[in-house]
Amino acid sequence: MRAQDESGSHLSGMERLVFDNEMDEALAALQQRGRAVGAHRIVLTSEAIAEPIATVPILNLVNSAISTGDTVRRAVRERLQIVGIPPEVAHKAMDLLDRGPAIAGGNMRGAVLMGCDGTRLEPDGNRGIRTVRVDVHPEDRDLIGRKLAQQGFSHHRTKEALVLSTKTLWAGVVAELGWSDDPDYTTGFVACQGTYWRFPHIKPSGNPYGGRVYFVTNGAPLDSLIMRLQTSPVWVRAGQLDLDG
Ligand code: AMP
Repeated sequence: MRAQDESGSHLSGMERLVFDNEMDEALAALQQRGRAVGAHRIVLTSEAIAEPIATVPILNLVNSAISTGDTVRRAVRERLQIVGIPPEVAHKAMDLLDRGPAIAGGNMRGAVLMGCDGTRLEPDGNRGIRTVRVDVHPEDRDLIGRKLAQQGFSHHRTKEALVLSTKTLWAGVVAELGWSDDPDYTTGFVACQGTYWRFPHIKPSGNPYGGRVYFVTNGAPLDSLIMRLQTSPVWVRAGQLDLDG
């Protein structure tokens, strides 16, 4: 689903992976989602998937207890440094998301692809790369939803971001940094090394910009990485789901 405003700018987007018998329900929910953001135009596209679907265990979720902006950002830089992203590159990525990462200004539909040296590598700096064709396997939907709710993470954004990051890391991205462009939702995350680190208060309330930065090893083959992110279907399973409140 792609939702746009009157000028054709991106407002919201979402993809689902479902069995045939859930199609109608999923399409209705996606349309409702577009309506909820006040879209002028909602584009719904569906396609059948013939190839085998990979199965990937969901990332662990760890919540950060830090609650002041500067300290949160320091913790984010430290987390990224552990996987080889220098603090100045982490700073650059956060600065981009603060201002709206699209080359033309504003938010992107997809993610920035960034080398560990800070170079932007996505072929289209306005659209970005979108992680699609991924969903929780229907058999694990209740379990994953219940476990997240038990730990106080019942916001749909947490689950959706956790699921997307699970595929993003599986595809070969070293680390992902992100937060919403919703001015009222100020929690962000870093995903790396099999864990999704949730960071409340990563951005100031009222800022309408956000996005995702996918960090990749310099020299990594980008075509195959982008292909996996944008075309390989993935079911996310509960695995050994470990939630740390
Ligand atoms: P959201 O967290 O849904 O508010 O989205 C915030 C921003 O993250 C969007 O404006 C996009 O730039 C990016 N984003 C959202 N969904 C995806 C996705 N599936 N793949 C890549 N980037 C995404």
